[in-house]
Amino acid sequence: MVAELISVGTELLLGNIVNTNAQYLSKRLAALGIDVHYQTVVGDNSGRIKNTLDVAFSRGDTVILTGGLGPTKDDMTKEMLISYFHKKPVLDENALAALTARLKKLDVAMTDHHRKQAIVPDDSIVLINHNGTAPGVIMEDGGRTAILLPGPPREMKPMFEEYVADYLAKRSGRVFVSVNIKMLDFDHAPVRIVGEAPVADRLDPVIDQANPTVATYAKDDGCLIRVTASAPTKEAARELLKPTVETCCELLGRQYINYIKEDED
Ligand code: ATP
Repeated sequence: MVAELISVGTELLLGNIVNTNAQYLSKRLAALGIDVHYQTVVGDNSGRIKNTLDVAFSRGDTVILTGGLGPTKDDMTKEMLISYFHKKPVLDENALAALTARLKKLDVAMTDHHRKQAIVPDDSIVLINHNGTAPGVIMEDGGRTAILLPGPPREMKPMFEEYVADYLAKRSGRVFVSVNIKMLDFDHAPVRIVGEAPVADRLDPVIDQANPTVATYAKDDGCLIRVTASAPTKEAARELLKPTVETCCELLGRQYINYIKEDED
């Protein structure tokens, strides 16, 4: 699978906002072992979005677009993609229910502009937005896949983690293996290395690497560090994990580690 990123938004071209979505997605795709050869930024213009798609699909099979899913006139990504993939626009009842509930919570009346957001391409995977109003969509057509995500990073990131990461991992044919490194709790270790912040400080040299990834989680009974590798087989992933787990142990100090254990499936 070769993926390409398209960031839609005139604000990006004008330099009004920084393209942090592309940075986030690039890192996550690298961690998933998916090749990304190109990134493009395009304004809110359907002709130019179409040109960008033509070029992207001439180079790869999967395109992830962010932005332009909202309710206003300049949000045209979804309509553009529906016609590009020769799909039919249909009202998605689940997306409408989520939208209705969200607007009710915000005490905002539903307008036609709002309702437009629950229109999705038929025969597609709808990604419910728990942090905003515009659902995301995964569309497939003849070996080509387009994944549409909302522009605001606080909506895009959780949607990617909830739906897209798994979807891509399955498609990429790679497997994941995680090793948990559990730190001692407050009763058994000096305070300076117990909390998440000192642990993250010590792990600074490895915390930004793409494969294996290193993530820290604060737990009442001692911090947890999860090291995750992706590879074509479990054996290859385990081999890839070894040096990073070893480095983590050295950086953390073995005397503060409670146990090291591979995650169960
Ligand atoms: P909305 O429903 O909020 O209109 P949308 O999917 O239509 O969402 P846009 O209108 O394209 O998204 O962008 C909304 C906001 O999201 C932008 O003003 C900006 O703050 C942020 N945003 C969009 N694209 C990016 C990006 N590539 N990187 C970082 N932030 C972005």
